This record gives sequence, C-alpha cells and structure tokens, in this order.
Amino acid sequence: MNPPAWSLVVHGGCGQLTPDTLPGPESQCRAGLSAALGAGKAVLLAGGSAVDAVAAAVSVLEDHPLFNAGRGAVFTAEGRTELDAAIMDGATRLAGAVAGVIRTRNPVQLARAVMRHSPHVLLARDGADVFALEQGLEQVEPGWFRVEGRWQALQAMKAAAARGEDVFDADLKYGTVGAVARDAQGHLAAATSTGGLTGKRWGRIGDSPLIGAGTIADDRSLAASCTGSGEAFIRAGAGHEMGALVRLAGLSAADAAARALVDVQALGGTGGIIFIGRDGVPGWAFSTPGMFRGRATACDEDEVAIWGDEG
Ligand code: ASP
Repeated sequence: MNPPAWSLVVHGGCGQLTPDTLPGPESQCRAGLSAALGAGKAVLLAGGSAVDAVAAAVSVLEDHPLFNAGRGAVFTAEGRTELDAAIMDGATRLAGAVAGVIRTRNPVQLARAVMRHSPHVLLARDGADVFALEQGLEQVEPGWFRVEGRWQALQAMKAAAARGEDVFDADLKYGTVGAVARDAQGHLAAATSTGGLTGKRWGRIGDSPLIGAGTIADDRSLAASCTGSGEAFIRAGAGHEMGALVRLAGLSAADAAARALVDVQALGGTGGIIFIGRDGVPGWAFSTPGMFRGRATACDEDEVAIWGDEG
C-alpha cells in the first residue's frame, strides 16, 4: 500500500490522566492539539518540509498554557522555568537542541537555529539564550512562562516533600510536547520541547533535548518524539534503540516503539512515544493511562485523543 502523501503526529505528554487531573478543560486540551495539527498541516499542504512542519506544530504547543513547554512549563525546585528542546532532520540527520534556556519564547525555534546556523548540536543555558538573541528570536521575561496551576503543583510537591514523601517523578503526569512528520518528498523530522519535571534540580536535563534519547529522526528508520520518565528514556537510549530496531532488525516503527517502552519500563520508567516509520505509517504507543495526542494524514480525517481507550 502506498504511504499517505504526508503525515503528522503531535503529542502533549502522557500520564495518570483522568477528568480530574487534566491541566485544564478537556475541550481546551483537545483544541490545543488540533491547533498544533493545523499549524503543521498548513506547512505540509503547502509542500513545506517535515522540519518546518514539526517546528510549527511544536511552537503552537509551546505557546499554549496547558502544556508543559514554553508558556505553561513546570517549575524547578527553586521556582524557575528551565526549558529544553530538540529538532532533527531525517534526510540529513542534522540536529539542533537547547537545554536550560530561560528567556527564549520558543525553544524549538532556537533548536532549529542551532541546527541551521551553528556548527553545534546542543547549546545550554545562557549560551543558548545569547545565541537566540543573535538569531533575532523573541526573548521574554521569565514571568511570561508562568502559569498559576504549575506554580501550585510545585507548592504541593514541596508540601509532600516536607511530609517525607518521595515526590520526584511520583505523580506520573508528563506534559512535554512533540511532533513527528513525513513530508511530500518522503523526508522525516521530529521535534520535542519541555519544561521537564516539576521540582527538578537546578541544571537537570531530561531526555527531550538529547538526540537518540527523547528525539530521533532518520529517513532510514523512523522519526519519534518521547515523553515520560526522562531519566529512564536516557538510560534506555530510546530514540537510538528504536532507530536500530527498524534499520538493523527490520521491525516496524510500531513494534520498535513498543519494545522501547518495555525497556523503559524495565528501568523503572513509564511514558509515551509518537512515531512515523520510513514506510510513512504514523502512530503512537504509551504505557500510561492516557496521552495527549493527535494525528493527521493526506488520506484520513484528523484524530485527537487523550484517554487510553480512544483511537
Ligand atoms: N521526558 C521529560 C523530561 O524528563 C518530561 C515529560 O515528558 O514531561 O524532561
């Protein structure tokens, strides 16, 4: 069967999602995912590249206050927002990533600038924000990222810690955003952006900006963006592992993602993955009760889902 002329998948994180634990009204969560699909689709329908499509989709989710990336990011233990993002072009395997940025409105656009306009792959902290300024990317005050619900989540976590509870990564709610696309030329791309985990230590970096961990795109295998327990995804080398399973072991992208989640689980982690295989087949997999996700292709109706038994 011929693959769809183009395809796009987005996610807004996963976890112990119930109607009571959503970060906002369900309709607004779904609308955010639809808006991200719309932005990415506009690029693909116009014949644009998969790279530009994933950057457009992720930028929408970064600006959306209900998702844990850009505006609406979670707080570190010190009450700051430190943002990580990555993007990868499957055609060339060029990649760009940033970690711990605090002033750049759209970290995914900064990651794309690192990929296109620097000889490097990963820039961190002040050096990344200064590069953003040089590249003419919008800078904002840290308060721009602040959303009250995220602040309250940090206060609740601190109160639980004061009671002696083990709180790091304990609520199993991940809000990282990501997108994968296959364009009309058949090229793949992936992007991921996150505020990381509530109460993370100053300077902690998760899997999202690490190429081969939370983000991977390679025309020879698949494009994938991960969300979940970042430390486990790093230790599993999830992105690289999926690529190798498709390219060298002949697995489908869906089977590779399922295997990666089993490995992450063996390391004590949980999470979700969106993917598009080199055959153009888009999909998702998750080991949590729910995942914010959406999918669009040239052939089918758009699909947006949150709960485990949808879609
Ligand atoms: N994987 C992200 C991190 O560890 C968190 C998430 O997916 O929400 O930074």
